[in-house]
Amino acid sequence: MGAAAVIALAEVREQKQRARIRQQLHEQFNQWLDTGEEQVKEPQPTLEQLTRAVWALRQELTGQLATALIEQHYGAEQEQHHAPCPQCGRQVAARGVVSRKVETLGGEVELARPYFYCVPCRQGFAPLAAALGVAPGHKQFDVQQVATKLAAEVPYETAQDLLQELTGGGLSTARLHELTNGVATGLSVLDVAPPREEILAKLATVAAGRRWRPIGVLAIEGADLPTRPDEAKGHRPGRKKHRAKRARWQGQWREAKGFRFYLVDDDRIVHVLSWHQLQDHEELFAALRQVKEAGLSPEDQLRLWVVADGAQWIWQGVKQLFPMAELILDYYHCAEQIHQVATVHYEGQAEPALEWVEATMARLFAGEVTGVIGGLQRMRPASAQAAAAIDALVVDLQNNQDRINYRSPRRAGYPLGSGGIESANKCICQVRLKRSGAWWYVANSNHRLALRCAKYNGTFERVFERYRYKTLEQLQQKNVKK
Ligand SMILES: [Zn+2]
Repeated sequence: MGAAAVIALAEVREQKQRARIRQQLHEQFNQWLDTGEEQVKEPQPTLEQLTRAVWALRQELTGQLATALIEQHYGAEQEQHHAPCPQCGRQVAARGVVSRKVETLGGEVELARPYFYCVPCRQGFAPLAAALGVAPGHKQFDVQQVATKLAAEVPYETAQDLLQELTGGGLSTARLHELTNGVATGLSVLDVAPPREEILAKLATVAAGRRWRPIGVLAIEGADLPTRPDEAKGHRPGRKKHRAKRARWQGQWREAKGFRFYLVDDDRIVHVLSWHQLQDHEELFAALRQVKEAGLSPEDQLRLWVVADGAQWIWQGVKQLFPMAELILDYYHCAEQIHQVATVHYEGQAEPALEWVEATMARLFAGEVTGVIGGLQRMRPASAQAAAAIDALVVDLQNNQDRINYRSPRRAGYPLGSGGIESANKCICQVRLKRSGAWWYVANSNHRLALRCAKYNGTFERVFERYRYKTLEQLQQKNVKK
């Protein structure tokens, strides 16, 4: 037989197979219609009654459709009798067909695939499962991805309910917890940061048509989160012998330190990247260094402004890392302190307190830091508490004198406070992690923070791809060890 004839024969076989699969699907669809009709008992059903019946059956139908498509694409592999061992290349005979049902967003799919085992290599393998990228376990990656996204947003119980309602499939809260930690384990700032090309493209958009390089703001701030110590692990509520253990741990508020980097586009902020973790100063600056070294904060293409509250460690670290940056004391932090002084000094006198706050803020805006410090020093404190608050403010203003010249930054069209990061903190840290009665283990809260940053930075899909890749790689290694 000539080559052309062989090809023609293969084509005919393919067409026949396709026709057979279509025929099967049509039959299944007929059955599905019958079942659907039976489900609607009412002679005059409402739209909701009708769509409910369809909804209840749709997973079955789409699942069957997916199964048929697998057969269409991998018919030959499903009937494979021999396959080369991925380790040594030896031809190995199939040990039979293993069938397993998996859950996808497209419904339950039946996976029938031949299984092979190479005795010398002690390696089991299923080429079809590998080609399809099947996840270990029942729930497939598409289900896992939406579940993780939901769990990063809302409490596990709510995520579980929503998932059930929207997809018809469910995941236990324990599994949601495990999944969240699995996806987030080992994430670094670079994993959740957008790639450099993307950042440069944003920068180019903001820079277009401008005479000056755009302003990039690095805002550094903290948010207190409720944490629980690792010793609290293992206790089970309600059990007598564990009750004592439970009583021993105490929740602690700890500071999630983080930064947000954004561009200023006239009256609009263009978010670039966020990174928040329960971490110490060194870890925060190590992350910032990674960002700088990866070229994600291109100082040569922007004017970099760093906004933070008055903590000295921040200024020292920033000066080392970004010597060219302009440093600015957070205007809101400053305003808060001035309000505090007013509250204790003008106790019970709302009007003079407000007037003093407004005058002081106006002078700071006008660049009169020295004048404000002098005025504070001449004040006669109404109480010891007021004296302490005034002293603290004087010290803070003196320490940050070079960073309070709000007049010139204002002219440059620059937002003076870390309003940007305050809202990022609310989005990332507080909404999900600050809930009454919820005390988080440090590792778990960092996992959740990392996922929320990824979502905020628009890199959640990339982060999930990393997890998928890691999981499949581990699966392959596990098979070799067996
Ligand atoms: Zn082998």
